[in-house]
Formats: sequence, C-alpha cells, structure tokens
Amino acid sequence: MEPGQKVGVVGCGLMGAGIAEVSARAGLDVVVVESSQAAADAGRSRLEASLKRAESRGKVDSVDEVLQRIRVETELDALADRTLVIEAIVEDEAVKVDLFKRLDEIVTAPDAILASNTSSIPIMKLGVVTSRPQQVLGIHFFNPVPVLKLVELVPSLLTSETTTETARSFVEDLLGKRSILCQDRAGFVVNALLVPFILSGIRMMESGFASAEDIDQGLVLGAAHPQGPLALADLIGLDTTKAVAESLYEEFKEPLYAPPPLLARMVDAGLLGRKSGRGFYTYD
Ligand code: NAD
Repeated sequence: MEPGQKVGVVGCGLMGAGIAEVSARAGLDVVVVESSQAAADAGRSRLEASLKRAESRGKVDSVDEVLQRIRVETELDALADRTLVIEAIVEDEAVKVDLFKRLDEIVTAPDAILASNTSSIPIMKLGVVTSRPQQVLGIHFFNPVPVLKLVELVPSLLTSETTTETARSFVEDLLGKRSILCQDRAGFVVNALLVPFILSGIRMMESGFASAEDIDQGLVLGAAHPQGPLALADLIGLDTTKAVAESLYEEFKEPLYAPPPLLARMVDAGLLGRKSGRGFYTYD
C-alpha cells in the first residue's frame, strides 16, 4: 500500500481509535464509522486524548495535522471509496457477520480489502458471507495499538496471497509494525499461548498451591516476565480473559483452555480486574 491510500475503520472504541490513530500518523487518509453520534463523539475524544499524550512524549509533531486526516462518521456509506477497511466492533459473531455483508455491498473498489481485528472469531465465517472471501483476512492489533509493535495477520483458507501481502505491506512498510502470520485458528499465536499460561496461574492459586503475589513474583523474578499471570489477567480484564478462554476451549476442546471455576465466579461477581477496581489485586 502507498501513502495517501484510503483506510476505513469500523468502531472507534479502544482498538478502533488506536488503529485510526496509527494509520493517520502514517500519513493515510482515514474514515472511522461509529454506531451513533454519541459514540462518534466519544471516539473522537479518545483519539484526541491519545494524540495529545503522544505529542507530549514527542512522538507526534502536530495533533491538528494528524486529526485533519481522520473523519469520524456515523454511516457505513462513508466507507464506499476505501481501499482497506478494518473492523473493530464488538466481539460478537452475528454482529460482525451482518457488518461484513453490509461492507461487501458498500465498499466498491474491486480490489478493496475487508479486514477484522477479531481476537477469536474465525475469519472464514466473515469471508464466506461476502462476494470476495479472497480479499478478507484478520489484521489483529494489540492493545495499546500506538505502543505495541505486533500485528498478527490471519488469512483464511480462501484469502489470496496478494491480499495477505498487501496487508503485510500496510502493517510493516506504512505503520512500521512487525507482523507474524497465523492460521485461522482461535487465539492465533499469542492468545493461544498466553491464555493457558494465565489460566494455569489461576488454577495454581485456586488450589492453594501459592498466593497470587508469590505466583506473580515467581514469574517476574525467576523468569524475567514484565508481570506475572494474575496481574496480567487483571490488566486484560477477567471478562475478556474468560471470553477468549471459552473461544479456545470451544475450538480445541483441550482442558488447559477451560476457564477455571474461580475465574467464572469472579466475573459473575463483577471482579473484572483493573477496570472494575478489583480482581486478583485491588486498585485505587
Ligand atoms: P470496544 O468496546 O472498546 O469498542 C467497540 C466499538 O465498536 C464501540 O465504540 C461501539 O460503539 C462500536 N460499535 C459496535 N457496533 C458497531 C457497529 N455496528 N458499527 C459501528 N460501530 C460499532 O471494543 P475493543 O476492545 O476496541 O474491541 C474491538 C475488537 O477488537 C473486538 O473484536 C476485540 O475482540 C478486538 N480486540 C480487542 C483487544 C483488546 O485488548 N481490547 C485486543 C485485540 C483485539
């Protein structure tokens, strides 16, 4: 992809705003679509706040110049002329399937790519509802998008090599990130390895084997991890951790992916980690 290409993003939440930001900072023209005016306003504020943080750290020269390249809209029709559209809406298969059907009708450029930032929904399910499954793939960013370098590229069995190569060029040559190629399997590479590790930490604590603090200290001081599995679960959100574990279990039926009862009870109790103020640890 060349600078000046037209990128579309659907959803301006945590991930969509980040994807719009890094695309605009790379010089691309970006249209973001949200589901309502209130959500669009919130998305724009999120973008502005993130860009101001980047400016204060010397990573962005002019917030205004970057913002000029981003339009936040509320109608999908605004994406008609886009050459790459990345979907970052709620992690719900039925809602994403409906969106891909609509994008397929609206986005008219014959070689335009339709991508999903999903963490766990099979790309094939989204590709087959369009008339162009060869131009549908997963482009899975990591949170926070402006900071973390990795992007997982996930072609389905029907995705063409040209589409994968165009997506790789977008991610690496334009955004300056690193990509890894993953098969269309729940969890891709990173979550398929990370989630069972976190679940093992939870099981270890649940069985009384060791305390949360000692498990985390063990991994930080003994294996040079930046944080232990329970602190990491709190950061990701225990609801999100459980949802991804359920997708992995559904796909592979391996006990190591099954959410432990303690995780389920904590989610039922609203103990979701940092975002709710309490998980395995308490936060102010
Ligand atoms: P979020 O809830 O912060 O944002 C989703 C946004 O989509 C909301 O602002 C919502 O208003 C909007 N939206 C919902 N339906 C819409 C529609 N039909 N049209 C337009 N906008 C719509 O969620 P998020 O954390 O940004 O996650 C988005 C996607 O990214 C999910 O598929 C998730 O699995 C994936 N993901 C999340 C993370 C993470 O750490 N949060 C990491 C990688 C991938």
